[in-house]
Amino acid sequence: MEGPDSFRVSVTVALDNQANELYFEVPVEYAQSLSLDVADAFIVGLIPWAAISGCSLKSELPVSQDLLFRLRTFFLPFYAKFTNTQLVELMAKPVEVKTTASGVATGLSCGIDSLSTIYDFYLNAASETPQISHLTFFDVGSNGDGQKSKELFEYRLANARKCAGKLSLPLITITSNLCQFNKSIRQYENLVYINNIACAILLKRLIGVYYLPSTYSIFEAYHWTRGGERHLDTYEATIIPMLSSHELQLYLTGTISDRIEKTCKVVQVPESRIFLNVCVKEARNCGKCFKCVRTLLTLDLLDVLEEYYEVFDIDDYKNHAQTYWAKAKAAAYRDVFFATLVNARSSRTTSPVWLWYRFRNALKDGERFMRRKIKRRNPQHRTTN
Ligand SMILES: [Zn+2]
Repeated sequence: MEGPDSFRVSVTVALDNQANELYFEVPVEYAQSLSLDVADAFIVGLIPWAAISGCSLKSELPVSQDLLFRLRTFFLPFYAKFTNTQLVELMAKPVEVKTTASGVATGLSCGIDSLSTIYDFYLNAASETPQISHLTFFDVGSNGDGQKSKELFEYRLANARKCAGKLSLPLITITSNLCQFNKSIRQYENLVYINNIACAILLKRLIGVYYLPSTYSIFEAYHWTRGGERHLDTYEATIIPMLSSHELQLYLTGTISDRIEKTCKVVQVPESRIFLNVCVKEARNCGKCFKCVRTLLTLDLLDVLEEYYEVFDIDDYKNHAQTYWAKAKAAAYRDVFFATLVNARSSRTTSPVWLWYRFRNALKDGERFMRRKIKRRNPQHRTTN
């Protein structure tokens, strides 16, 4: 289906006499960039849905041979074990895809991971590095649901467009209803990760290399359990090669750097002073949520706080800085990012009030532990929402 400015590619997903449309939409000028002769993007995007629905995936369109091999051999068994769901059987004809596109892309969220990747693979790229030629912005669930999500999406997209313009790179947008299919499994936080990869795969005719910014460094990921809960992003270094293929190389970036090191790179991106956007709650940086606070603390530590007055309320931060540092110290035992910050600042004293916050965290941990125990004893309390 085509609108005047956009091009929609869709498939019918049928299960138990019910049929639903799954679509991806791109600006019409990128219609030729879509890989329409294989079902790769749709298959990858639907894996979480098929796993939770307990069904197999059968495609009438073929799937690229290399991707099919990696999915069947590595990713699907991993995903079944990780989510404790049935192994998804994948029925599709393999097809050899020989062409490799020359485009190199990464997502532009304007956050720390995204901008540090742009520093490494565009602004400061070594000569042998596949240098970023395109930026992407995918609307596949990271903005949440409802009216608020629409506002967040529009603000973040406008911010990304302006930033891409300043960086002199084209921005490719994709919107999809993929998150509607995977709605019931959102407790696996970085499911958005798979949705993003599905979008990148869809652009295979244009993009041959795609950089995915890591959430954690590999050293942090393997030692980090988030209070015993498992999240997909802690396995990102393992997952990415399973979803890569000859025709689309996926690279996980920032795997060696902790958040302070990444922020050091972001500081060297002049555009970050106008476009840095890390907030998880509001369109503009609220300065209060955990991502805003940890970014402010890092900028403070690096002594560049004042340079970010256009994206943060610096005076408000300064009024609360002692409390934020105390809370960071109190949370360091269970939050790797705060732990890194507190260690880096160890020569400076923190208000003794941190002990009160630490005590409060211990009470909350106890409450969470009891809730998990009760849930295990009463399986009917389990929910997939
Ligand atoms: Zn915020």
